[in-house]
Amino acid sequence: MATIERHSGLWRVLDEQRQVIAEAPVLVLANGLGANGLLASGRGEVPWPLTAVRGQISSLATDGHPATLPCPRLPVAGGGYVLPQTGGRLLFGATSQPDDIDPALRDADHRLNLQQLAGLSGGDVEAWSSLPWQGRVGWRAVTSDRLPLIGAVPDLEALDRTSRADQPRFVPRQRDARGGLYVFTGLGSRGITWAALGGQLLASWISGAPCPLEADLRDALDPARYALPRWRSDS
Ligand SMILES: Cc1cc2nc3c(=O)[nH]c(=O)nc-3n(C[C@H](O)[C@H](O)[C@H](O)COP(=O)(O)OP(=O)(O)OC[C@H]3O[C@@H](n4cnc5c(N)ncnc54)[C@H](O)[C@@H]3O)c2cc1C
Repeated sequence: MATIERHSGLWRVLDEQRQVIAEAPVLVLANGLGANGLLASGRGEVPWPLTAVRGQISSLATDGHPATLPCPRLPVAGGGYVLPQTGGRLLFGATSQPDDIDPALRDADHRLNLQQLAGLSGGDVEAWSSLPWQGRVGWRAVTSDRLPLIGAVPDLEALDRTSRADQPRFVPRQRDARGGLYVFTGLGSRGITWAALGGQLLASWISGAPCPLEADLRDALDPARYALPRWRSDS
């Protein structure tokens, strides 16, 4: 998806050749760090303060090394985390590096993951450091206040005409009775943890069903918090 636009009351997503991929009354930007780009392609709104934080996880084959590697029955988290072995591999991590766009796996990061694994399990890094390993690099979408962005996208043009905008809940939105534009991103390091409750919150935004969260917490996750005059004057 390259751009979004509103057309005849529907939200459209278009490819690079401006061919329509899909259109619907409701559009949810649930594309991680790409949400700002799509939002800017629509009406050029002020993007959210999203930072890309690189993370590398490691995995080791457990076959042939059962005595030296920990075998937790449940996920263990603290300084890092380790998951119960799956498919003959132990998965653990992770590193955290803001503004680091390097997609390559790094030995130094694997060693840091081994140190975190040792801290969690009491094992010996040196005994594991010669084992062949695999890994994966990804990027977390992190907001400046470390909370997700879940809700209807603010309408900044209408906001400028609004006398009361001291709380997110009073900020006008890009939606009407037929549908609207929503966002679900900024999940940082906790997207898997947040997904189910975040999905319920988003559904309540779209459908008008009772909110699963109290009002203060809904405000804290509201993408309109960054549209408030006090934040815009600070940025
Ligand atoms: C190393 C690492 C370890 C982690 N460990 C944990 C953990 O233990 N527990 C936990 O809860 N979370 C963890 N996380 C965080 C979790 O992975 C994220 O919070 C979660 O993946 C965010 O989900 P998302 O769908 O919002 O974004 P993403 O997973 O980033 O998915 C967004 C998708 O949108 C696609 N996209 C972007 N722009 C466009 C476009 N214009 N058109 C079409 N598609 C587009 C992207 O290609 C991507 O597939 C970890 C993250 C990393 C990097």
